[in-house]
Amino acid sequence: MSATCPKCGGKDVKQVTPALFECETEVQTDWFDAPPEVTGTGMFERHALYGPCGHRFQVPGIAAAPPCEIPRCGRDSVGRCQGQCGRRLCGLCGAPRGPFICADCLKAQAEEKRRVAEEQEEAASRKREKAARQLADRRQSADQELAPLSDPIEILHVLERKSELLGRKACAAAWVRLAETGSVTPGHQIATVFGRGHFLICGWQSDPGWNWHERGKREDAWFAAESDIYFDNQGREWRPTSALLLGGPNPFLKGEKNWVALPHGARFHTRLSLHGWGLVLLPNSPPRTVAGGQPLSRVELSDDAYARAMTEILRGSESVSSALPESR
Ligand SMILES: [Zn+2]
Ligand SMILES: [Zn+2]
Ligand SMILES: [Zn+2]
Repeated sequence: MSATCPKCGGKDVKQVTPALFECETEVQTDWFDAPPEVTGTGMFERHALYGPCGHRFQVPGIAAAPPCEIPRCGRDSVGRCQGQCGRRLCGLCGAPRGPFICADCLKAQAEEKRRVAEEQEEAASRKREKAARQLADRRQSADQELAPLSDPIEILHVLERKSELLGRKACAAAWVRLAETGSVTPGHQIATVFGRGHFLICGWQSDPGWNWHERGKREDAWFAAESDIYFDNQGREWRPTSALLLGGPNPFLKGEKNWVALPHGARFHTRLSLHGWGLVLLPNSPPRTVAGGQPLSRVELSDDAYARAMTEILRGSESVSSALPESR
């Protein structure tokens, strides 16, 4: 049913009852005089304000319709609620936008929608929890599988199948047992060294370094070349900052403790490095500058990085590779 607003001539009208309409046409409703401090031009500026016309008008000659069934309304109805209830509604008791529906049904629909969403969210969260529990179980059983092993081949097999599940603690414990058996030969040693670096500018070219000396017993070390990580026999991991200097609070200060990884049995002495200061390894390999980066103490690997480094050391070990069924 279309009608024209007698006040503004607009055709955007809402039917309230069969004979009553409300005009929703946008019309100018008022003026706004913007003051000089708002306009910035030193003068008032007049702006038109717009809004719905709102005029209600009767259209003659339309037969009466059943009344709106919303309690205490009493207007003639223009249609039925498209929600659950199916009651007769007038134009004002139906929703202003979307399907023609009463407020009760609109509310019920919104609640139903929220309930379904909540149910879906709960199901998803149960699923996530279940997956997390299963993963925790798989991690635990991988750790338990590793726990009794000290044979390098058996350890390698578990590492290769479960490296992404194994925890760092379980790996480190397995490494300590492995080191104790002596079945994987340590290729390196970690030496504790004291001394002081020097700078190219203020040092002497022939200076072999200041008072670098080794003290105490060396620890066995195993090198995972791919990841540039050393394990000691306590299962601790070391990562060099630059070449082979493993760490220390401040290599420039006299008397400070630092750690260096050396090929097994190698001696070292110090000399000026091209980088300004540091240690150069002699004599087994060509002199190699080992200092230069930021001093760094022991680092903690992520779980799977630890497992990968272990795998690499075991694969590179002669005793392991010769015992594997097919050599790589
Ligand atoms: Zn109007
Ligand atoms: Zn309804
Ligand atoms: Zn009504």
